[in-house]
Amino acid sequence: MRRKLAAGNWKMNGLSAQLAEVEALCAAHPTPGVDILIAPPATLITPMVVTASTHPLAVAGQDCHAAQNGAHTGDISAAMLKDAGASHVILGHSERREDHNESDDDVRAKARAALAAGLKVVICIGETLEEREAANTLDILAGQLAGSLPDVLTGENTVIAYEPIWAIGTGKVPTLGQIGEVHDFIRTKLETRYGEGVARSMRLLYGGSVKPSNASDIFAVSNVDGALVGGASLKAEDFSGIIKALE
Ligand code: PGA
Repeated sequence: MRRKLAAGNWKMNGLSAQLAEVEALCAAHPTPGVDILIAPPATLITPMVVTASTHPLAVAGQDCHAAQNGAHTGDISAAMLKDAGASHVILGHSERREDHNESDDDVRAKARAALAAGLKVVICIGETLEEREAANTLDILAGQLAGSLPDVLTGENTVIAYEPIWAIGTGKVPTLGQIGEVHDFIRTKLETRYGEGVARSMRLLYGGSVKPSNASDIFAVSNVDGALVGGASLKAEDFSGIIKALE
């Protein structure tokens, strides 16, 4: 059925020397039982592809522009990511939504562009602490799903990452019950919009303070098909512990 996915998001971390961690990770998991994806800063995409050239590890961008090319200083297109060797792109991370004012519409336009360029997309959604405390989590997520996902996608070319904003980089994690509730809800919403085939084949990741010590519990929750990992993806030893929990 759905193959598990361990995805790492390096965010704005990593100079060339950091590629030693990828070498160590590949050496520790020569034939991984799960899919492994890392999104380094754009400067390291091609070097990481080269470092992992004999390994199934896949490389992602952390964002792309919705346009194919043009006068957008500092931006990067989906085709450029693909040309650099990336197979995936993370879109709609809460740090992009907040730091760059990205709306659901922006995320959907980027997703369309990425899919058209032949990239797979990891689309992030998540609620703030205020929204959770006001018992609005499911409404917020429903709105983000409706707005951020393109109408045309497949279970294979799209991954959804549920990342409660208050759990990112904080060491705080929702209860397993809360994670399960959200993941079941997402699966149901996908089924209503795209049908059973797409809904059942799409991978749903949990993200937010995943560590080797909590990974097994989180991965035992139904409809959790892996994780999107920030801080703990930077060190081979930590990320390896998470991969082992998923295998
Ligand atoms: P974290 O980040 O694992 O450091 O909490 C997760 C993310 O932002 O994807």
